[in-house]
Amino acid sequence: MPSQSTHLLDSLDSTLTAWLAERDVPKFRGKQIRNWLFEKRAADWQAMTNLPQALRDQLTAELPLWTSSVAKHTKAEDGTEKLLLSLADGGQIECVLLRDKVRRTICISTQVGCGMGCVFCASGLDGVDRNLTTGEIIEQILLLQNLLAKEERLSHIVVMGMGEPLANLDGLLPALEEAHREDGLGISARRITISTVGLPASIDRLAKHKRTYRLAISLHAPNDELRNKLVPVNDKIGLDAILDAADRYFDVSGRRLTYEYVLLHDLNDQDEHARELADRLSGREALLNVIPYNPVAGLPYETPTLARQHAFRDILEQAGIRVQFRHRKGNRIDAACGQLRRSQQEVFALE
Ligand code: SAH
Repeated sequence: MPSQSTHLLDSLDSTLTAWLAERDVPKFRGKQIRNWLFEKRAADWQAMTNLPQALRDQLTAELPLWTSSVAKHTKAEDGTEKLLLSLADGGQIECVLLRDKVRRTICISTQVGCGMGCVFCASGLDGVDRNLTTGEIIEQILLLQNLLAKEERLSHIVVMGMGEPLANLDGLLPALEEAHREDGLGISARRITISTVGLPASIDRLAKHKRTYRLAISLHAPNDELRNKLVPVNDKIGLDAILDAADRYFDVSGRRLTYEYVLLHDLNDQDEHARELADRLSGREALLNVIPYNPVAGLPYETPTLARQHAFRDILEQAGIRVQFRHRKGNRIDAACGQLRRSQQEVFALE
């Protein structure tokens, strides 16, 4: 049995340094291991061929590299791939690789389930079980990177999978640090986006962090009355407090914020919603990312017609708001925004 129960990737440097020192293995082996993991995409200890065989065997026996296993791997024709991972305690999460021209973006989860309760989202249907550990988050990143062909390079990370990332900053930030570090994945902070339902205190905490990641805030409604219905946690927060925190983040980071808006037929897609939204956002350095609703089995919502989508867009653009519609990547394998879930019940999917 492995001699330790913690995840190696929860604190890679300290665990590895101590393990190597206890066995009188020279320090440079630690650097080689890092390189194998992040750069050379090793699948296991045995793949690390410049380590002595005896060391590889000892690592295999004593220090589990992965704690999750791939329960299902789904591929779509557009190049999107989705992994369903089973965690050590039996919990399940999903994460996604998206291919778009030269971009290789991965979408990672931060919690098992989600506690925010957005009414149109699959991830929160059964509430939240627990936060993912740093190691479990890094593991998703590495397993997804390992899906790439040799000539492909991981270019972007979006923290838009299952869960509310700002409710798990302690787990997330050290994982993103590994993604950012030169001797990690070397991905610059501007290519890493964290998406949040809008938790002001955590946005302020993020503003003080040494890395200025891109921030995306899920609005979904231009006023509190409607937002309370679609995003129940809004009740205790309110749009003003969220936008104020977002403005503070912009002041500190200098990075343009993205606002996300799931477009739901009849509920938040009318002309008056577009006009009110334009009023809210005008004067702000912002990009509005509109996501036409991706259907979730069992939920009663509908995607607006193309004509309605265009009308909504026109009003915002005429008011001077920068608008982008998000393509439906991965929706044929239920890998698009809001379709990730922890149980596989009725969903699935072409291989
Ligand atoms: N908890 C974070 C990350 C969630 S997922 C957040 O709230 O931002 C990323 C985006 O997908 C969010 O904007 C979320 O509201 C949106 N989303 C959720 N369900 C969706 C659905 N069924 N169709 C389209 N987008 C959805």
